[in-house]
Amino acid sequence: MTKIAFIGLGNMGGGMCANLVKAGHTASAFDLNAEAVKAVAAKGARAAASVPDAVKDADVVVSMLPAGKHVLGVYFGPDGVSAHAPKGTLLIDCSTIAVTDAREAHAQAERAGFVMVDAPVSGGVAAAEAGTLTFMAGGTADAFSKAEPILKGMGKNIFHAGGAGNGQAAKIANNMLLGISMIGTCEAFNLAEKLGLDAETFFKISSVSSGQCWSMTSYCPAPGPVPTSPANRDYKPGFAVAMMLKDLHLAADAAKASGAEIRLGEIAEGIYQSLSDRGLHGLDFSGVMKDVKGDLPR
Ligand code: NAD
Repeated sequence: MTKIAFIGLGNMGGGMCANLVKAGHTASAFDLNAEAVKAVAAKGARAAASVPDAVKDADVVVSMLPAGKHVLGVYFGPDGVSAHAPKGTLLIDCSTIAVTDAREAHAQAERAGFVMVDAPVSGGVAAAEAGTLTFMAGGTADAFSKAEPILKGMGKNIFHAGGAGNGQAAKIANNMLLGISMIGTCEAFNLAEKLGLDAETFFKISSVSSGQCWSMTSYCPAPGPVPTSPANRDYKPGFAVAMMLKDLHLAADAAKASGAEIRLGEIAEGIYQSLSDRGLHGLDFSGVMKDVKGDLPR
């Protein structure tokens, strides 16, 4: 049994924290939102009053926060984790943040006497609740071996992606590909329809042909072929446009910093930006189908 401090109990963190308790760990849980703390306390976590209270006797800190500035603030800001957790505590940040912020967090953690792992996730709220997330972790081999048993309490597939920040690198490269493939899938279904094929017929052919991809077979943006996909509930998320846009911004920043050319990544960023600018940030990201079909105001 490991003493875990869990910080950030939102859509994702709430289910993840509850799963750590289910896996037999103790969890001291904190969030700025008191209702979120109450919800995990009802599932067996201890409600902590603050970050210092949550981490004071922790073996491991796990965080699931909105963005890099929150992560750096929670860990290294005034009254943050590094000032109050016992030295040597393993820090696992599961938020999706910039590779540069993650590497900065690793460096600060090391200077302050902590071991850190960046471990962003693939999979949404349902996977967080079911404990079936995929984790891609960055850090030393030693840090990863300590983090792995904790991550197993919240996920199914756990990967060591390499050194500091490599978990975030894997995450944003993967999600950039997802954004591009979703737009491509929408365009292909729309073209097929314009040429006289209904969605079911095109799906039957393309899902076993060379155009096959996850965006088609697991999350089909055309209503019908994949009953669980958001296309069948008027594109309610799921994974919202705002979340995809956040990841594409992170990918574009990382590409600029590393000199990688991402022509399609930039186009995808522009398409999701345009949906967001039209007030559609809450639409599922597969809702780009509506735009491709010309069903949204331009
Ligand atoms: P969320 O906004 O629902 O949850 C974030 C929580 O952090 C909130 O409850 C907020 O009150 C809390 N918080 C913010 N600042 C804090 C602080 N200083 N101290 C304590 N708590 C603080 O977001 P989410 O959907 O749970 O996403 C969390 C992270 O997971 C993000 O980085 C997101 O990109 C990533 N992610 C989300 C999904 C998804 O489908 N929702 C999927 C994969 C990855």
